[in-house]
Amino acid sequence: MTTNTADGSADCDVLVVGGGVAGLSAATFTARHGFDTLVVDAGDSILRRNAHVENMPGFPAGVNARRLLELMSEGATAAGCERRRGRVTRVEVIDGGFDVETEDGDRFRTPYVVAASKNETGYLEGVDGVGIVDRGKTFVDTDERGRTGVDGLYATGRLAEKPHQAVVCAGHGAEVAVTLLEDDDRPFYHDWVAPEGYFTDRGRDVPPGCEEIDADERRQREADSLETMRSRFDDHHPDDQPTHPSLRED
Ligand SMILES: Cc1cc2nc3c(=O)[nH]c(=O)nc-3n(C[C@H](O)[C@H](O)[C@H](O)COP(=O)(O)OP(=O)(O)OC[C@H]3O[C@@H](n4cnc5c(N)ncnc54)[C@H](O)[C@@H]3O)c2cc1C
Repeated sequence: MTTNTADGSADCDVLVVGGGVAGLSAATFTARHGFDTLVVDAGDSILRRNAHVENMPGFPAGVNARRLLELMSEGATAAGCERRRGRVTRVEVIDGGFDVETEDGDRFRTPYVVAASKNETGYLEGVDGVGIVDRGKTFVDTDERGRTGVDGLYATGRLAEKPHQAVVCAGHGAEVAVTLLEDDDRPFYHDWVAPEGYFTDRGRDVPPGCEEIDADERRQREADSLETMRSRFDDHHPDDQPTHPSLRED
């Protein structure tokens, strides 16, 4: 979990700006690795506007978009990630990382920032070395694996000009997280759960980020998964269908 420092700011290992599809996916991977991961999210993923997601692998009859986001959020929390509602307004490079501020005045220090804020780039404008691409909407210039021109600062999802599909942005979030772990000098990282003996019966060590589980543990995890998924899919999602912001009356 994040820790408070004497001057009132907080420390975490990774701060993810934006808890939409790409940000939640990235956060799940860094948190599962054991990095204290904080997601600061303004709460308006564009996927919320969708009427029914029908191209997400694993959902043969499609899935409610709000439900999908909740499941992704729940998965990130289960991985150990902390979430806060808020809008990041400033990122500043400091010794050893970044000082991040929200519009409510909360401040966080972190060695790594993953920007996953779709087309919102205002908070990055003061950071030397970040390329902002303006094509009517703004994007962040990155290499294929989400690295910006600033060490420790990554961008993912639509913000990194990935195609406009949830599975692509989620996949890129995971890829950027693994890239961050590799750049942090972690050994090659799998994040796999394998059956007992899969590696060790062949005289191999269990690779970093992997675990082997026995049959009892496997059945227990499957039972937990069945119970969770039954309860999450026992009824229609209660939220109304959001429309385009320009059509809202409020
Ligand atoms: C009507 C509609 C239907 C769609 N249907 C589909 C579909 O059926 N299938 C499909 O694959 N894709 C669909 N999409 C596309 C999909 O929603 C996007 O490609 C995907 O959500 C992009 O993921 P992202 O994480 O980059 O951005 P988002 O999911 O939009 O997440 C960005 C997050 O960052 C937050 N944020 C922004 N700025 C800040 C800040 N300064 N501080 C903190 N948080 C911030 C936002 O509040 C948001 O939660 C649809 C899109 C729309 C508009």
